[in-house]
Amino acid sequence: MRASSSARDDSIEAAGTIIGGYVSVTPLEDEEAALLADLVTARLATEVTVTAWRHRLYPDNAAYAASGEPGARAFLDAIEAMGIDAAARRFREACRQLPYRRSATSTLLERRRRALPRSPLFYSRPVHLVRGEGVWLFDPDDRRYLDCYNNVAVVGHSHPQVVQAVTQQQELLATHSRYLHEAIVELAERLQSTLPPELDAVMVVNSGSEANDLAWRIARAATGRAGAVVTAYAYHGLTEATHALSPEEWARGEQPAHVATIPAPDGYRGPYRREDDGWVQRYAAHIDDAARALGDRGFAAIYLDPAFTADGILSPPPTYLREAARRARTLGGLLVADEVQAGHGRSGTHLWSFQPSGITPDMVVMGKPMGNGFPIAALAVRSQLLQAVPEEVELFSTFGGNPVACAAALAVLAVIEEQGLVANAAEVGSYLRHGLLTLAERHPLIGDVRGEGLLLGVELVDAARGPDAAEARKVTEAMRERGILLSATGPAGNVLKIRPPLVFRRQHADLFLHALDEALASS
Ligand code: PMP
Repeated sequence: MRASSSARDDSIEAAGTIIGGYVSVTPLEDEEAALLADLVTARLATEVTVTAWRHRLYPDNAAYAASGEPGARAFLDAIEAMGIDAAARRFREACRQLPYRRSATSTLLERRRRALPRSPLFYSRPVHLVRGEGVWLFDPDDRRYLDCYNNVAVVGHSHPQVVQAVTQQQELLATHSRYLHEAIVELAERLQSTLPPELDAVMVVNSGSEANDLAWRIARAATGRAGAVVTAYAYHGLTEATHALSPEEWARGEQPAHVATIPAPDGYRGPYRREDDGWVQRYAAHIDDAARALGDRGFAAIYLDPAFTADGILSPPPTYLREAARRARTLGGLLVADEVQAGHGRSGTHLWSFQPSGITPDMVVMGKPMGNGFPIAALAVRSQLLQAVPEEVELFSTFGGNPVACAAALAVLAVIEEQGLVANAAEVGSYLRHGLLTLAERHPLIGDVRGEGLLLGVELVDAARGPDAAEARKVTEAMRERGILLSATGPAGNVLKIRPPLVFRRQHADLFLHALDEALASS
């Protein structure tokens, strides 16, 4: 590549455009793209050096010999000003021919608000992203953000093994599950091998909502009852049936008559505190009251997210689930473990977060991280419960369990195992938790630190130890400005929600802790 003969202040950008044009005809391998900045710099340095040498050799012809030199020198200066690493990233980006980066952020925001008025965006200055890699997300200017929030990219953004599995399968066959194909069978068997043997039937769908919705139909059919119990601020989905099971999203005063709530086992804010003997049993005892409140409808099922993510990220001891399961069984209700948030190894001990309790749920729902971004969700269920759904009712979803989605899900499970990501969640999670507890000693804003593995909650409180949602908003905004993405959750919205991809390492935890320390100090 040859720089223009006069200096220009957008030379790096112009180079990106030229590279983009070149690779649109002749694509470069990623390894070649990575060398581009070094090669361009070497070429420019050669030009400057050779010009100087010729200048001395042929003084009479100096003007001609030096004609390209100012441009080369200016371009070298531009690379130096930007830093060779940043220039290398920019050139590499240009080689990747990223789609969807035509609009400036402000224009895109306007278009989005017009075309999708009810589609929520995080932050007062929304983050515009064009690509992700591991724990990092990148904006159109290649500014990187540390992802401490997204559990969907469980094995890291754009994991090559998942990308390869998806593209390979997409090239071969992408059809529905009414034909025989190995991937869905392999996935079902693979999931069963991770679950208690009683959960011997699998159904594959496209979203957590759909899986929970299906679980609700099965629960009603199998029990002949019509009432549900959920925690007071739970989230289980977007569909009509699962919205009814999601108090977090109810409009003011909206509580469907067939749903009763129980307090989530919050040992910090009460009514029962961690310090009190038998506190989890007292929380679980509310299931009896809730089931009774359902009256004639009867108690068909209780849905529990074992990490109580929407309820503020709670991690009661395993006794809670054991006691909840015992009570539900005694009352004749089914227990649905919603692993959409806490599953796929995030809790750091098992693949499924209910497992430390030793219970066997009647159904287990998994989703979000299941395809590392490719839509897929599943329901594992005791097969005898399925018998209650009449044979003539077909349980089929066009996209559910298609070979591409199953290939993604199988690749995710393989990476989690091969890279020891469950153990990593435990190790880095405990390191991060310890760091947060250290911050809590210095920052009275932190009232409580809790969670398991790489699903941690930091409850922010005011001087009277009341929930401080305004601070949580301020801190998440301040962290965003520092290039770190997280969010807040809980009934009061005052619990910082830390839920990064499981490839999060100690050095990432250090970056997070350092930024949080600063953000809290300036609060
Ligand atoms: N259950 C839980 C616990 C969830 O967190 C979510 C999504 N946030 C869902 C169900 C619904 O999943 P989806 O958005 O894939 O429909």
